[in-house]
Amino acid sequence: MVIETNKVVVVHYTLTQDTAEGEQIESTHGSEPLAFIYGVGMMIPDFESQLEGLKAGDTFAFGIEAANAYGEYDENALVEVPKNMFESDGKIPDGLLDIGNVLPLTDQQGNHFQGKVAWVGLDKVKLDFNHPMAGVNLYFTGNVESVRDAEPAELEHGHVHGAGGHHH
Ligand SMILES: [Zn+2]
Repeated sequence: MVIETNKVVVVHYTLTQDTAEGEQIESTHGSEPLAFIYGVGMMIPDFESQLEGLKAGDTFAFGIEAANAYGEYDENALVEVPKNMFESDGKIPDGLLDIGNVLPLTDQQGNHFQGKVAWVGLDKVKLDFNHPMAGVNLYFTGNVESVRDAEPAELEHGHVHGAGGHHH
């Protein structure tokens, strides 16, 4: 059985920056493999197209440029906001606005998102809303553990059940 739309694909991979020899970003080795439904928009499109047609036991190695992964780093995604919006009881909690801190935020529509503290001034703060992986060229090496048909319930839920997926 080969990887195609609506198959549950289970892979082990190591993600590095730029090349196979680059700095390691993450790896599934030593933990649960990645399990996903192929062709339903769960994954980066270029990641999927590189795996198409592979079968259990096959290996892969390919790069995806930042623009086709999490996007280029966008200077316009650095936003200056008043410091006092982080006050509670008239005081900014200690350590909240340390550079590099990732703050969970909610907009007026109730959407949750994250901003990283990039700069702190006297009464203003610059938050970075770029994806943490923005501007990073990805390189994947790995192997296909298994390929199977997705269960109807998995297609309905839009996620994998069992090993490497949701347990419910
Ligand atoms: Zn489910």
